[in-house]
Amino acid sequence: MAGKVGKKSFTTGLLTCAGGLCRVSFAAMSPDSGRERLSLAEEAAHRARNIAARLRDAGHEALWAGGAVRDMLLGRPCSDIDIATSARPEEVVALFKRTATVGAHFGVVIVVEEGVPFEVATFRTDGLYLDGRRPEEIRFATAKEDALRRDFTINGMFYDPFEERVIDYVEGKTDLKAGVVRAIGDPAARFSEDKLRLLRCIRFAAMLGFKVESATWKAVKELASEIHAVSAERIREELDRMISSPTRLQALDLLDAAGLLQEVLPEVAALKGCQQPPQFHPEGDVFVHTRLMLSMLADDASPTLCWAVLLHDIGKPPTAKIDEDGRIRFNGHDAVGAQMTEQILRRLRFPNVFIERVVEAVAMHMMFKDVANMRISKLRRFMARPGFEEELELHRVDCLSSHGLLDNHKFLLAKEREFASEPLLPPPLIRGSDLIALGWKPGPMLGKALEAAQNARLEGLVSTREEALAYVKKVFGAPTQTPESSMMSDKEFCVEGMTSPCSPRGIT
Ligand code: ATP
Ligand code: MG
Repeated sequence: MAGKVGKKSFTTGLLTCAGGLCRVSFAAMSPDSGRERLSLAEEAAHRARNIAARLRDAGHEALWAGGAVRDMLLGRPCSDIDIATSARPEEVVALFKRTATVGAHFGVVIVVEEGVPFEVATFRTDGLYLDGRRPEEIRFATAKEDALRRDFTINGMFYDPFEERVIDYVEGKTDLKAGVVRAIGDPAARFSEDKLRLLRCIRFAAMLGFKVESATWKAVKELASEIHAVSAERIREELDRMISSPTRLQALDLLDAAGLLQEVLPEVAALKGCQQPPQFHPEGDVFVHTRLMLSMLADDASPTLCWAVLLHDIGKPPTAKIDEDGRIRFNGHDAVGAQMTEQILRRLRFPNVFIERVVEAVAMHMMFKDVANMRISKLRRFMARPGFEEELELHRVDCLSSHGLLDNHKFLLAKEREFASEPLLPPPLIRGSDLIALGWKPGPMLGKALEAAQNARLEGLVSTREEALAYVKKVFGAPTQTPESSMMSDKEFCVEGMTSPCSPRGIT
């Protein structure tokens, strides 16, 4: 069932496609034969082939390049196929109907084929790098020179989709087979040119489960402290891809071993050696605990959950104290951790919605130990928050990575079943206008009365509009009273039938 890239002979037996990602089978290729056959999702391959054919018909070289070739050879899902060509950007633009020239300065033109964008890049060689990130200038060049300016040998191969042949100037195939990430050329020079490659090296090694070749690794370690030449956004992008991927633990360990963790996430590096009370944390220090938690997350755990797990105990090192009984305490580590999380994620330029979600998860993670004692209205509000499901999972792996007790987790699962028949936060039975019609004056007391009515509803004490109005009357007095005269203490506010202490603020 060997698949062949091409319209007619293509077979789907070796393909799996999901969510726009296409998997090709390594078995479809014989790396040492003259004609190498790759199978690839028909549509992506077909489009990329069309683009290459148009370039070739116009007399230019056109090859698939970089990550797509690596992933195809490995039988991994590959999201996009980049095309490298001898055609100059203006020639590319002239050949295709729909193009965009965002990166034309670096020889890159976006060609839109059947609505899908492809990067078509002119073979180039990079000039001097002065800022540690980008070349001052580029020069158009040959395919071989283009291979040599790429970062790692496994990323430096081309594929000829017509001759079905891998073109390998950098011995990428050997390294791919051996499972090695090796810089092309002199590693120190290549990392000095562009310091982003330091993080890319870790990402590819973690993602593929590869070893970093020794000279390459030595250079990564030597140059780790220079990562700050890279913009916070690009560091964020790389870190986020690592932490959100199934190989997040390998990435964390490699970042640590390379000395990069200390540079980009020093607060996480500080978790190492932060001792915890052994009776609650038999697993070891906070770093060990966090690593264990990361290892328990599902492959497809959301990025916000992954970051929340990574940062949930970030407030422990600065709050660690030993009390009179000799026990280690981390009082307030959740609140301090939430502040630190916000600083870290802002520093890395994460979007606000992302930051809010992760900060809330860190701030709330200790609340889970109290859920069984919460009054029902508070519990329902707690569970109705958009981040609750992720926090529940954080709590689960938090317990499993320490004392192992899942009582609160089980309690919450049972409550989810119990509350499943109606919304956790149903719409209010009464509104301000209902109370104003009864003689209430607008003001803070009116708000308290409405909140009390909603609490009573969430507690199951009232279920109709009439019951809610009667409840407000009973608790706050007749509507003829002025708001001031009906003011009462939190204690007085509790009424018969409530299951636990209550306050007008709802959340105690
Ligand atoms: P992925 O898309 O999974 O990150 P990729 O290898 O396709 O992997 P891209 O960032 O899409 O990575 O880059 C495409 C190719 O461009 C790479 O395979 C590599 O050949 C080259 N490349 C990208 N970034 C650099 C860099 N900073 N230095 C040198 N070459 C690079
Ligand atoms: Mg890519």
